[in-house]
Amino acid sequence: MSSKQSKTDCVFCKIASGEIPAKILYRDDEVFAFPDINPITPVHVLVVSVKHIGSLAEMPDAETPLVGKMVRVANQLAREQGILKSGYRLTINSGADAGQLVPHLHIHLMGGRQLDWKH
Ligand code: AMP
Ligand code: ZN
Repeated sequence: MSSKQSKTDCVFCKIASGEIPAKILYRDDEVFAFPDINPITPVHVLVVSVKHIGSLAEMPDAETPLVGKMVRVANQLAREQGILKSGYRLTINSGADAGQLVPHLHIHLMGGRQLDWKH
């Protein structure tokens, strides 16, 4: 399967296609964003690639600019969510030891309270 195709059993591909509902906060042809269904911070938004890429570890080098774009979108959303000045954290979990649950590349945008450092 090409990473350009959507994966039929992938929850984030299903959100991208509209099969699973989500409150879409941002969308273009490469990146979309929606609130995490199980937020751990007052602001917890997922910034997701439209293209199915299983993880950061599986990401082809050629997709590096896509991650830069995802960071830019996360910064834009941080501004819209009112946490640009108070502070926020971007997290990408890759693989089992990082606790990655959904195998589709995404950035967690978290803020709205003081964040503890996680080990
Ligand atoms: P990760 O552990 O980095 O793979 O993060 C996956 C995140 O996706 C978790 O924080 C989940 O709460 C979130 N999540 C899973 N399903 C949905 C959904 N249908 N809508 C919004 N967020 C979801
Ligand atoms: Zn997917």
